[in-house]
Amino acid sequence: MTATTPDWVNPLRAADDKRLPQIAGPSGMVIFGVTGDLARRKLLPAIYDLANRGLLPAGFTLVGFGRRTWSKQDFEDYVREAVEAGARTKFREHVWERLAEGAHFVEGNFDEAGFDRLAATLAEMDTTRGTAGNWAFYLSVPPDYFSDVCHQLQRSGLAEAGEDSWRRVIIEKPFGHDQETARELNQVVNAVFPEKAVFRIDHYLGKETVQNILALRFANQLFDPLWNSHYVDHVQITMAEDIGLGGRAGYYDGIGAARDVIQNHLIQLLALIAMEEPVAFEPTELQAEKVKVLRATSPVYPLNKTTARGQYTAGWQGSQPVIGLREEEGFDPESTTETYAACTLQIHSRRWAGVPFYLRTGKRLGRRVTEIAVVFKEAPHQPFTQSQRTSLGQNAVVIRVQPDEGVLMRFGSKVPGSAMEVRDVNMDFSYAEAFTEESPEAYERLILDVLLDEPSLFPTNEEVELSWEILDPILDYWAAQGRPDGYRAGTWGPASADRMLERTGRTWRRP
Ligand code: NAP
Repeated sequence: MTATTPDWVNPLRAADDKRLPQIAGPSGMVIFGVTGDLARRKLLPAIYDLANRGLLPAGFTLVGFGRRTWSKQDFEDYVREAVEAGARTKFREHVWERLAEGAHFVEGNFDEAGFDRLAATLAEMDTTRGTAGNWAFYLSVPPDYFSDVCHQLQRSGLAEAGEDSWRRVIIEKPFGHDQETARELNQVVNAVFPEKAVFRIDHYLGKETVQNILALRFANQLFDPLWNSHYVDHVQITMAEDIGLGGRAGYYDGIGAARDVIQNHLIQLLALIAMEEPVAFEPTELQAEKVKVLRATSPVYPLNKTTARGQYTAGWQGSQPVIGLREEEGFDPESTTETYAACTLQIHSRRWAGVPFYLRTGKRLGRRVTEIAVVFKEAPHQPFTQSQRTSLGQNAVVIRVQPDEGVLMRFGSKVPGSAMEVRDVNMDFSYAEAFTEESPEAYERLILDVLLDEPSLFPTNEEVELSWEILDPILDYWAAQGRPDGYRAGTWGPASADRMLERTGRTWRRP
């Protein structure tokens, strides 16, 4: 596939300069659910940003599919509004006009008539805009419709690529509700699209810092010798959010924190932190190593001591009083959905035997932060007395995924002065300070990767099924427990989560 250089790209740029992002070849994208929250906030702005950075082909065509009776102009107005509200790059009229030229709306429910209209539109675009039969179908719709959309794509012939063209499908989480439903979903999708044409979005994998885990581990000599059970005491993977769930009952009630975050984002982070070095930095090699480590991962038992779950109650977020989950609009007043989940996992390998991996996530916690802390064992011998090292903890390498992306190393240092006193200090690398280049937004990176057929950052069906296999016993155990423990909004989760670590002589980091 050769990429066509759009006319707003610097013609002097060398086409084979690998340091520059590649430009997608002739193609278009259909968004199902284009009127939804995800499309409006993330997908449409990301597509504009890609166009603005000169990474989309000249004839790029965006087709929105939905139930509105919209004209082309109505759709353009809608997309423009979403772009102006959400794009990260500057709004430039001439870039917008080019994108708008290729913006089309097809009205339809997920029925035959709608898909027949869609098929006719795409055929027309292939000739008028030069999309060359290359289409990505973005399923930004509730998961209950994945099967209908796949079926209609197959029936209408849209799923089938020609000899020199491609068809790809992009699926959003949740990928099932447990291992069984994930398997069923994979069967439905794989009956229509071959696995290499399926791109499952875990937007965390599109974040620069997440990709930097691999650079940190495998481009350096410094970390790998320590990256094992001889030196690592434990690993904490945290995704904390300060927002509540007002307005998200439809999606969240009955799903909960573990399914929403641990099954996908946190288990993927675990795989990247723990996997062996891939033979090459190539999709199949990366995926093979991730699968190996996921196969070796399981919960630590007994689950009443090694897991914790909670549900936020009324409290304070900053200086604002906030309500509890059960009072949030749309939630069942008796809801047993957890908004906080923590678990202990283990990896059965020589490298990680005996090292607990603590994963936690929650809503309405103290602050918004995602980080991975690799916490090292204490030095086997200390020449300093206890009083000389009262504020000395354990060494740690902390990868901050968001906000303020970076890497922090925590180690002991002498406090200046005549007395010998050793205290923890932080050595902090910040992306924003170290690089002038701006990180692309995760969705930008991932959408471009789909168009470029670069699957490294997308979990495979096997990875998805394995992560459910890890989580399912915990979910089954919790399902039998009734209401989760309460925790006040604005705190760091239920007391049971603190006890979970205290039992092992450890504490959660306060990020
Ligand atoms: P949403 O706001 O509820 O939007 C759903 C979209 O699907 C709307 O455009 C809706 O069209 C369309 N739709 C529903 N039933 C339809 C039907 N029968 N025929 C045609 N269109 C239909 O959902 P969302 O938040 O955008 O989420 C979309 C997907 O992304 C879901 O799978 C979700 O789990 C996933 N996701 C979302 C986020 C997020 O931040 N929002 C994050 C991660 C994953 P109408 O406007 O006509 O109702």
